[in-house]
Amino acid sequence: MNDSVSNIISGTEFSAQLRARIKTKVEKLKQIHGLTPGLAVVLVGEDPASQVYVRNKGKQTKEAGMKSVEHKLQENTSEESLLAVIAELNNDSSIHGILVQLPLPSHINEERVINSISVEKDVDGFHLTNIGLLSTGSDKAVIPCTPLGSMMMLKDRLGSLSGKKAIVVGRSNIVGKPMAALLLKESCTVTIAHSRTLNLEEECRNADILVAAVGRPEMIKGDWIKPGAVVLDVGINRIEKEGGGTRLVGDVDFESASKVASAITPVPGGVGPMTIACLLENTLQQACRINELDSSKL
Ligand code: NAP
Repeated sequence: MNDSVSNIISGTEFSAQLRARIKTKVEKLKQIHGLTPGLAVVLVGEDPASQVYVRNKGKQTKEAGMKSVEHKLQENTSEESLLAVIAELNNDSSIHGILVQLPLPSHINEERVINSISVEKDVDGFHLTNIGLLSTGSDKAVIPCTPLGSMMMLKDRLGSLSGKKAIVVGRSNIVGKPMAALLLKESCTVTIAHSRTLNLEEECRNADILVAAVGRPEMIKGDWIKPGAVVLDVGINRIEKEGGGTRLVGDVDFESASKVASAITPVPGGVGPMTIACLLENTLQQACRINELDSSKL
């Protein structure tokens, strides 16, 4: 193993440990309080990638000892029918988390659907109220899973983030913006970069923490990174392999960046596996909140 390899932050290992902790807490919740956390996933249509995600979520939910419910609706389902399914789940006391798999078919208003999920069951953290709570720095916010998982790994590696310069490349509502809000809450000085940012390389070189959520294969090179910085690569891009076939790469050029960074997440096996683990974490936390139980005492 060379130095750069020892600097890898393994999301595969980190998420396995997190899921094991969740499983233990779920067992205690059942034994002590007779409560089984429940997660419902709603899928509209037959998008193959979405079907794989939903299957994995269901499998991991059951492995954690939670109740898993799947609603598979046809592509031509009306918005009203989908809203009715969500209303039913909102009223179901055995369900503590509701996730609507995105994207939805184009005839359905995504925003209206997401905002119909009850705020405390919105385990994706996409409801406008949860976005608002996160922006105000409230501890009551349900935090979107990918930024939550990224933050857990970052804090585990660095401890206090206070005063560090952080850059988030990408300003999407599901990754970039919530990630920036979380870094700000930890008292980082945060830059949010996007496709119109001038001198992006220079902005990146100033950062002690770099989060890449762009969706452009290996865009961020090693010489864009400040020596010793911590790099979290959220990107998942499938590219052609030399000699045929495909492989997954991140938004960061791992080969060159891992020689400069003090710590870096690989793709695959970095941020990716944390997303479902954090979905389970959010479901557990919300089951406790809804039932006015203190999860830290489990
Ligand atoms: P998105 O909604 O497409 O947003 C991409 C962002 O990158 C936009 O803000 C865009 O800027 C910015 N951008 C595009 N080209 C750029 C450039 N040349 N220079 C600087 N900024 C640029 O993407 P997303 O949903 O946030 O996802 C980003 C990546 O993360 C994707 O690869 C996705 O697959 C991956 N992802 C992974 C997970 C996981 O579980 N690990 C979860 C979610 C997403 P503008 O706003 O100016 O257009």
